[in-house]
Amino acid sequence: MELIEEHVEAVVGTRLEDAAVVVSGGRGLGGAEPFERLKGLAETMNAEMAASRAACDQGWVPHSWQVGQTGKKVAPELYLAIALSGSSQHLMGIADARAIAAINTDPDAPIFKHCRFGIVEDYDKVVDLLNEKLIKKLS
Ligand SMILES: Cc1cc2nc3c(=O)[nH]c(=O)nc-3n(C[C@H](O)[C@H](O)[C@H](O)COP(=O)(O)OP(=O)(O)OC[C@H]3O[C@@H](n4cnc5c(N)ncnc54)[C@H](O)[C@@H]3O)c2cc1C
Repeated sequence: MELIEEHVEAVVGTRLEDAAVVVSGGRGLGGAEPFERLKGLAETMNAEMAASRAACDQGWVPHSWQVGQTGKKVAPELYLAIALSGSSQHLMGIADARAIAAINTDPDAPIFKHCRFGIVEDYDKVVDLLNEKLIKKLS
């Protein structure tokens, strides 16, 4: 077997597997730019960022962010899933999360069956507002 290419990614801050709070995005975000917007929310929540395989495969975020069966297993106090459906493969990566919350336009998205908190809404209408409210509350 021949090694063709090796990627070494620097870990800045907490490892995803050790994070107490994780903000995770899915295919429903529609591109790399919305992930930049989630970074603001993640910063306020002192969270690490993650993603579904669908989002990683699109090249929107690095593969090191992938959570699930073929990604990382996380065990945060809070896992906030934004615009990801909650496929069985993704859920395998978050089985040890203490609380799961989700923002999704589809009230029947499987992720809601595993949530303690859920918002049925377009992420676009929620993320900045949630960030503002949290900043106010934490200041
Ligand atoms: C062998 C194998 C291993 C796999 N391993 C993994 C793995 O490790 N991790 C993993 O994640 N997947 C894995 N997958 C892929 C998995 O089956 C799913 O395809 C993937 O998890 C779907 O990603 P998603 O939830 O982001 O996308 P989708 O299933 O397409 O969900 C997108 C969600 O976004 C919502 N949405 C759309 N627009 C908005 C909006 N504006 N606001 C809010 N919500 C919105 C939709 O309602 C939908 O629920 C694996 C698959 C196989 C076959």
